[in-house]
Amino acid sequence: MRVLITGGAGFVGSHLSEALLARGDDVFVLDNLSTGSIDNILHLRDDPKFHYTIDSVTNEPLLAELIDRCDVVVHLAAAVGVRLIVESPVHTIETNVHGTEVVLKHANTKKKLVMIASTSEVYGKSADVPFREDADLVLGPTSKHRWAYACSKMIDEFLALAYWKERRLPVIIVRLFNTVGPRQTGQYGMVIPSFVRQALAGQPITVFGDGSQSRSFTYVGDVVRAMVALINDPRAIGQVFNIGNENEITIGALAEKIKAVAGSTSEIVRIPYDQAYEAGFEDMPRRVPDISKITALIGYAPTVELDEILGRILEHFRLQQA
Ligand code: UDP
Repeated sequence: MRVLITGGAGFVGSHLSEALLARGDDVFVLDNLSTGSIDNILHLRDDPKFHYTIDSVTNEPLLAELIDRCDVVVHLAAAVGVRLIVESPVHTIETNVHGTEVVLKHANTKKKLVMIASTSEVYGKSADVPFREDADLVLGPTSKHRWAYACSKMIDEFLALAYWKERRLPVIIVRLFNTVGPRQTGQYGMVIPSFVRQALAGQPITVFGDGSQSRSFTYVGDVVRAMVALINDPRAIGQVFNIGNENEITIGALAEKIKAVAGSTSEIVRIPYDQAYEAGFEDMPRRVPDISKITALIGYAPTVELDEILGRILEHFRLQQA
């Protein structure tokens, strides 16, 4: 199979590239390195089945040509990270909506299968955990920029499902729940790489809010395995799937755990949300996936749990520092 991965030099994209190459696929990466990094894919460059182009999905002639050469498109290119979203809402909305729009438009001309990466953020403030794919999505007001990300991804989902319904373009939507692992950077605020970097540097570990909010972290290797299995299963077409891990941890407990496994002397400090992000910032207290749908379809089950994930991330950080 020949697979185009937009955003393929990002954290998830680079792991997906590896997984596809390992099973003998040809991989074509299109990435403008806005949040991705060439370092994520350097080790793949010598593989004759790996091809990459540094450019934007909004370069439509190039996008059309790459789609033409591939059987499947996995659309990962997006503005991600809560900090980036709060600081650059225009960029977030335009990148996420317009990028998906052009990917679907060009995929449609050749009727190529498209997988759209969405996010658990779309469940927003819903307290109805665990979140099922058919549940109501509950967002805050438009004056709070955080919700622009969820809303932009909801438009992506609507548009993809509309292409399926109206034009029979085969699409699959995946909602990723706090995907973590080696190569994720804390640059855009993601909690685990931020805490690990702070712990290893002996700097204060910054827990936002009171630390009682919880998340369910999913290992990137489990996520990409699920994505590959869905691409291979025609029954997945026209549907939305959560990809996650049901085990939750509070951010306060996560800080303690990372401090302990890193053998760090860092102090754990609490930073009010207003200071961490912006005045009036709204966080979600819990975010747990219901994974029964994807489990029923492809037998998905997460295989790597948090302690093991943290071990792998710490090893990655230490190797980088060595
Ligand atoms: N968080 C934190 N300290 C940090 C970064 C994040 O306490 O340095 C918190 C953040 O407020 C949220 C959780 O960790 O409650 C997860 O944040 P992340 O940005 O990784 O993902 P989100 O779930 O918000 O998309």
